[in-house]
Formats: sequence, structure tokens, C-alpha cells
Amino acid sequence: MPAPPVDSFERKIDYLRLSVTDRCNLRCIYCMPSEGVPRLEHSEILSYEEIARLAHIVTGMGISKIRVTGGEPLVRKDILNLCARISRTPGLKSLSITTNGVMLAEFAEGLWEAGIRRINISLDTLQPEKFAAIARRDFFDRVWAGIAAAEKAGFSPIKLNAVVMRGINDDEIEALAGLTFRHPYHVRFIEFMQFNPGPGGDYDKKFISSIEILERLRRIAPLDLCGDSQSNGPALHYQFRGAPGKVGIISPVSNHFCPTCNRLRVTSDGKLRTCLFSAEETDVRKALRLGLPDDEVAGIIRRAIAEKPEKHHLENPVFRKCISRQMFSIGG
Ligand code: SAM
Ligand code: SF4
Repeated sequence: MPAPPVDSFERKIDYLRLSVTDRCNLRCIYCMPSEGVPRLEHSEILSYEEIARLAHIVTGMGISKIRVTGGEPLVRKDILNLCARISRTPGLKSLSITTNGVMLAEFAEGLWEAGIRRINISLDTLQPEKFAAIARRDFFDRVWAGIAAAEKAGFSPIKLNAVVMRGINDDEIEALAGLTFRHPYHVRFIEFMQFNPGPGGDYDKKFISSIEILERLRRIAPLDLCGDSQSNGPALHYQFRGAPGKVGIISPVSNHFCPTCNRLRVTSDGKLRTCLFSAEETDVRKALRLGLPDDEVAGIIRRAIAEKPEKHHLENPVFRKCISRQMFSIGG
């Protein structure tokens, strides 16, 4: 197994977030416009063959972790066979998925059988009405059933991700964190990010920093930083004393995790992004469709990695407005 590629800032790049669709069955207010977005043509989306080949090429380069994402990955036709196929890629050490959970009751067992071992489920609220307001679809019960199904299928730990927005769901920080007293879940609070074109002009009012979230958590009960926090990517994990679950803080905006960033993203239309917040993209789809041999495609990916930016400048509102796509389109 080759060593993972290293970028110009000595970061080992061993993780790919692979978007398999830009479509979604929700319309979260922080991610998609209510009317939806123009659909990409079928021919624009990477085919199964192309995705499987790309997985093969990147693992051959030493990139050993892949997360399947979207849009909503479970709406892609034949997603289970696609996951099973990716999971058989030689050299792949970890295959995970991020889902909104709406279709999980139906798919959890199949995902486990397909070789997925890690699952992140988005859950911004425990109140069905608020769920309908945030996701613009009345599917809370389906998501809750999906979480139970994932647990039954064997996924552990189950990671629940909540985007925190002031005046919308910040009143539920305590309730969401409280889940960790009753379940072995990892409940992770994500800072709300602004994308362009994105969630409206009152971004600054809605933004709530991870420092403030942590202060609120500390008021609930004694909180210990977990020893494994460093191995959890961008999340810092804590545990309330005696609780089976953990709480996590993900602060893409206020606290750069850029110095340890190990990830690449490929959008569903085959554009490689080395930084979530940079508009720079490399056309991997074109390289695959030109029929270039694997080592030449790998060379193109290596050159993009060499150009991976050192860090983002999200603290700068001008920079924030330059981000050309939203999360459903980049692959969260
Ligand atoms: N549809 C799946 C889901 O929602 O889990 C996977 C794709 S979604 C784009 C991946 C993650 O991006 C989700 O956890 C979502 O909450 C997060 N996300 C989307 N827009 C965001 C924003 N403006 N700020 C912070 N997180 C965001
Ligand atoms: Fe869909 Fe996920 Fe975006 Fe919500 S966050 S609209 S579930 S892609």
C-alpha cells in the first residue's frame, strides 16, 4: 500500500469525500433553495464505472478512506451496489457515508452489508415541526426511525450532526446534547457556514460560534475532553461524566482545522476540490472520459494536491462571497 500523497504544507492527504449525486429529498434552509436547483443532466454525473475507477485510482495513490456523500446519497439509484463496489476496492481501509437519514430505515441494513461501517446522520432538531421548517419537508419521524435502524444494523458509534443557527435551533443545544445521556451517540454541533449563493443576508445574526456552543454544553454537566479527539478529524469530542455518548464541536469557521486537513472532495459531476472553501476545481471527469491511463489521472490529482491551499479565509466576508457552490453541490 503506497504512502498517502503529501501536499506543499506537509499534510498527508488520505481521505476523499465523494459526492454521488447533487439531488436531495430535503431542502434544508442552510443548503438548498426552497424551489430546488436545476438538475444536472445524467451524462454530467459520474457513472458507476467512473466512480469505481476513481476509487481504484485514489486508493492506488495511498488515499485509504472514502466517504460517500451528496446531495443525499441514498437517492442515487442502486446506491447499495455502488457502495458494495467501492468497498471492494483494494487498499481501501474505511468506507463511510453521510446521510440525512430520511431513507435510512429502508437502507441501513443494506449499507452495512455493502461494507459501510461509519455513518453520519444530519439531525438539527428533535422537534418535528421545527424539522419541517428547517428541512422544508415533514420527515422527522422517518429520520428518527432511520437512526434506530442504523443502530439495529450495527453501526457504532452513530454520529449525529447538527448545524446550529441562532434563533432557529440554538434553543435545542441542551436537548440534542442530552441524547448522549441516553444513547451511545456522538452528537456533533457544526458551525453554520455561509455559501454563495446561500442562506440570506442575516448570516451574521444566525451564526453562533463553537466557543459559545461549548460554554452552553459546560453549563449542562461536567464535561471532559476525550483523549481520542485528535483522531476525529475536524471534531473535538467531549463527554459528560457518566454519559454513554459523546458531544462534538466542529468549527470550520472560527477555528481553522486547515493545518491538519487531510481531505479531498470530488463533486457528483467529477470536479476535484482540494479545499471546501476554494473555488478552484480540477476536471477529473474530463480526464476519465478522455481515456487517459490510470497513472496519468493520478498525476492530475497529484498536481491538484500540490496546489491545495494552506487555509481558508472564511473570517473575511468578501472571501465568503466567493465560494462558488453550496454544500449539496460540493458534497458535504
Ligand atoms: N444530505 C446529506 C446530509 O444532509 O447529511 C449529505 C450531504 S450534506 C451537504 C453534508 C453536511 O453538510 C450535512 O451535515 C449538512 O448539515 C452540512 N451543511 C450543509 N450546508 C451547511 C452550512 N451552510 N453550514 C454548515 N453545514 C452545512
Ligand atoms: Fe439535502 Fe443534506 Fe443539503 Fe439538507 S444538508 S438539503 S439533506 S444535501
